[in-house]
Amino acid sequence: MIIPGKTIGVLGGGQLGRMLAQAAAQMGYHVHIFEPVGPSPAGEVARKEVNAPYEDLAALRAFAAECDVVTYEFENVPAAPLREIEGLTRLQPHRVVLQTCQNRSREKNWLRGAGFPHAAFAEVPAAGNHAAGRASLIAGIREVGLPCVVKTADFGYDGKGQLKVMGEEEIDAAVARFAGQAVVIERFVTFACEVSVVVARTAAGEVRAYPVTENIHTNHILDFSIVPARIAPAVAAAAEKLACAIAEKISLVGVLGVEMFVTPAGEILVNELAPRTHNSGHWTLDACATSQFEQQVRAICGLPLGAVTLHSPVVMVNILGDVWDLQPGLDRTPTEPAWTALLSRPNVRLHLYGKASPRSGRKMGHFTVQGNEVETALTQAKALKSGLAKVT
Ligand code: AMP
Repeated sequence: MIIPGKTIGVLGGGQLGRMLAQAAAQMGYHVHIFEPVGPSPAGEVARKEVNAPYEDLAALRAFAAECDVVTYEFENVPAAPLREIEGLTRLQPHRVVLQTCQNRSREKNWLRGAGFPHAAFAEVPAAGNHAAGRASLIAGIREVGLPCVVKTADFGYDGKGQLKVMGEEEIDAAVARFAGQAVVIERFVTFACEVSVVVARTAAGEVRAYPVTENIHTNHILDFSIVPARIAPAVAAAAEKLACAIAEKISLVGVLGVEMFVTPAGEILVNELAPRTHNSGHWTLDACATSQFEQQVRAICGLPLGAVTLHSPVVMVNILGDVWDLQPGLDRTPTEPAWTALLSRPNVRLHLYGKASPRSGRKMGHFTVQGNEVETALTQAKALKSGLAKVT
């Protein structure tokens, strides 16, 4: 057990690291952040921030030597250099978990090998020349069938590096964009809704899944998270059970976000695994007995896991840079949104990540709305969100 007073290292300095550092500090831990470019949102609330590339082995070693355990808040941290720190400290979740989840081919093959439900897919390896790349991409599309989604194998998130191919006429666009690259081609899933489950597991094998979250994306970025998810109780129970089984099978020590599709027939298909806290779990800060960030601290430090009981229905809304009056070409500070409407509501909580420059699509913060009913909370959340976008 790594007891309070010890030091937790975090690879990545974004908002997930920031909220993790806040939870760890509340529990009496020290937090060190490793982030290539600083100052970072997490570094601002940590004891120490190191700015160096992830490939800088000397910097990584020096960082690890000061930490009792190291975790990550970003799944695109290159896994290979982390070998260097394994003898110096504990890395949780294990490097192999990171490696599996950060590449779509490995992730899909792992799901298939372990027998977890997922959309049918084909892998297309990188090709040296355009003609070979074109032929193998088209063969992959034929194997999976139309409609499908072509995704780059590496470093994809928030819909980056992917293209839907709905019919024959769209194949040329996919070839133009992806021929030669390593990709995964997935069968397009006509889903009733998208859900996620955040699950935590300790080295001792204790596992807890948070209640299922229903997610609504806009332009591939999470927009609203709704809890409880508006799905049949049996489907929700199956989703939680599935997340626990995945955590066990992958030997997770830490927290993992499992993104899933629910089909109109109530079938669950796993879309993606993220071996860290998840954007769709931010509501746990305000509406749950234990936040996902405190749970991550507990899991990686070998403490007992906290209760995952939901206090009340809740809706989380992401706040993107777009609500800052960003007018291109104007040389002035973007106008801050009118936060008063959020701050004056007793059932609303605002979280901002301390990022200096708002940009379109950049996650700047989030707010939660609690209510007696999920529908009333959602209606209020939508109204508050559209109010935010109006420049005063
Ligand atoms: P991802 O980056 O894989 O999480 O995908 C981002 C979003 O694209 C998902 O949340 C879905 O809304 C959509 N999407 C991804 N894969 C599929 C699929 N196979 N079928 C239908 N929609 C998908």
